[in-house]
Amino acid sequence: MVAKVIDGNAVARLVRTECRQRAETLKARNIQPGLAVIMVGNNPASGVYVRNKVKACEEVGLRSELHHFHENTGQAQVLDVIDGLNRNPAIHGILIQLPLPPHIQVRTVLEAISRDKDVDGFHLYNVGGLVVGDTVFPPCTPYGVQRLLEHERIPIEGRNVVVVGASNIVGKPMALMLMQKNATVCICHAKTRDLAQFTILADILVAAAGVPGLIKHEVVKTGAVVIDVGINRLPGGGLVGDVDFDQVRQKASYITPVPGGVGPMTVTMLLCNTVGSAERFAGREGPRPASST
Ligand code: NAP
Repeated sequence: MVAKVIDGNAVARLVRTECRQRAETLKARNIQPGLAVIMVGNNPASGVYVRNKVKACEEVGLRSELHHFHENTGQAQVLDVIDGLNRNPAIHGILIQLPLPPHIQVRTVLEAISRDKDVDGFHLYNVGGLVVGDTVFPPCTPYGVQRLLEHERIPIEGRNVVVVGASNIVGKPMALMLMQKNATVCICHAKTRDLAQFTILADILVAAAGVPGLIKHEVVKTGAVVIDVGINRLPGGGLVGDVDFDQVRQKASYITPVPGGVGPMTVTMLLCNTVGSAERFAGREGPRPASST
């Protein structure tokens, strides 16, 4: 068996076209979805991610604004800006680019974002929504994985899903989202003893550990769907996931490549969450007169 390689770039393009159309519908009502991105410090990787997000907004007709603070900026100043953005009717999504410098408390900052503008889905209210099956803003990376599975019409209900990685931004929300689709879900992490005894049972295996070469073909069931969330930079500069792509491809039914699999979906789902937020705000406000912006 040779797996079908899921083309994340192609699916991301389709989803972005949908977002553009939804943004145009809002524009006809004089509403332009707006995203505010907050970055503190000069982490080079964060700089690349932030630029990608701003560029992606432009491509689909969203307004974006970047609030880039010096490394030593105090928490109170960041909270002040969030407060202003929470009140700003032109902003429908607020995102804090992580990591933050150590003197800023991540939880405090995330909790300061209005739960109605929390497009990353990291506010405890939205985390709770995910747990009880009432999700408003699904976290972007697992949401992207879900869209890839839906696009390929891969059934989820009743299937064994193993998620390798238990972080708050990828592994845990991924597991919850697939549980809501009635999968039987197992979450593994760095302290899991004998990872293979779990992964070998997976009909759908999601690798999100950040460990290159962690998932080799011996630990994958024949015909499994293998989703590689990992992004690992090799010393030579190339990017690889957590899955031994060449070998596992010979055994799986579907597989995502790195790069070009889950990666392009993450920013795309951020755009979807921002447009969705603007639609909800528009729904609450009712029709707007042509002169108001
Ligand atoms: P993270 O916060 O470092 O979490 C990694 C998780 O993997 C932890 O739960 C850890 O277990 C577990 N883990 C580490 N080594 C393991 C091992 N040998 N066996 C089993 N589990 C292991 O990372 P993250 O933010 O979730 O990101 C995970 C990967 O996805 C990274 O490569 C990251 O770059 C990538 N990523 C990609 C995207 C995308 O858009 N494609 C988005 C976000 C992240 P413990 O909890 O026990 O420590």
